[in-house]
Amino acid sequence: MVNIDDLVRKNVLTLTPYSCARDEFKGEAAIFMDANENPFGKLNRYPDPYQRELKAAISKNKGIKEENIFLGNGSDEIIDLCFRVFCNPGADKALIFTPTYGMYEVSASVNDIHVLKVPLDENFQIDIKKAKPFFSDKNLKLIFICSPNNPTGNCMNLSDVEDIIRDFRGIVVVDEAYIDFSDKPSFIKMVEKYPTLIVMQTFSKAFGLASVRVGMAFSNKDIIKYFNKMKPPYNISTINQKAALKKISKPEVSKSQIIKIKKEKLRLSSYLDKMKLTEKVYPSDANFLLVKMKDANYVYNYLVDNSIIVRNRSSIIDNCLRITVGTKAENSKLIKALNSITL
Ligand code: PMP
Repeated sequence: MVNIDDLVRKNVLTLTPYSCARDEFKGEAAIFMDANENPFGKLNRYPDPYQRELKAAISKNKGIKEENIFLGNGSDEIIDLCFRVFCNPGADKALIFTPTYGMYEVSASVNDIHVLKVPLDENFQIDIKKAKPFFSDKNLKLIFICSPNNPTGNCMNLSDVEDIIRDFRGIVVVDEAYIDFSDKPSFIKMVEKYPTLIVMQTFSKAFGLASVRVGMAFSNKDIIKYFNKMKPPYNISTINQKAALKKISKPEVSKSQIIKIKKEKLRLSSYLDKMKLTEKVYPSDANFLLVKMKDANYVYNYLVDNSIIVRNRSSIIDNCLRITVGTKAENSKLIKALNSITL
């Protein structure tokens, strides 16, 4: 059985976390004079540091125990926490499968962690044979798997992901930011089986709350304990907790938006597929399409001139644009603009 304490940085093991006023007194009281708050106003009190009400709603929605949930200021805060809890700056390493979400590398640099990059194969799947030799490196502490992957849009083969979780002695983070747009299963329930697995999801995509900044981590409760020790005490504001709570309490709203987005993705994809500008539209399990163009830079600049902004990913995947699915009207405008290009 893995002992999470063996994987955590020594200084984190022994760290005494900041104890805030709301940690020391829990419960109902008539008068709060413990936190140097201003007694006047509506937003004068510090938020619940452990976001209990929101976690209860997430627990119900996802079928995961509250003790297995951590909430961050976006998933980006959770990515950073993974480095700070498990990796020694200047010594340890993380492994990513490229091309993938850019923040893993940025967050690694911020924390002075070396990144090992294993390229995805020609179908944007994990090349297990190329990855496995790195697993014996004792300084390799973290593996990030993005599924569905940004910017390629596809889910990784489930058996490859499980193979990595089983084989690697360190922490595996499966980033499922886009999972709600996919018909493939989530790894969320696997956190009960694998103590070294962290599954990340977010309120920024399917829940439509990117401005609210709430990311979710699902994991073994020992890992959650270390995240709680390391985070700033009030990392999610009361306003943001309430916004996320409202959204998750009405799951039918997000569900109907997901259906619309998936339908529009199909429509956009079939238009793009027929265009002369296009070489290939890659299959997508996310809310965006990766499209190989004959001349991506030209198309990108043309769209910018027409006030339509897509993501030019040509620097990491030859001649590729990443196009987020918009509303029906937005997608129609994009199609119209693309149809007016003569190469
Ligand atoms: N993971 C992936 C794969 C993403 O693409 C993004 C944002 N584009 C994030 C995480 C960050 O999400 P959040 O808004 O929750 O920080």
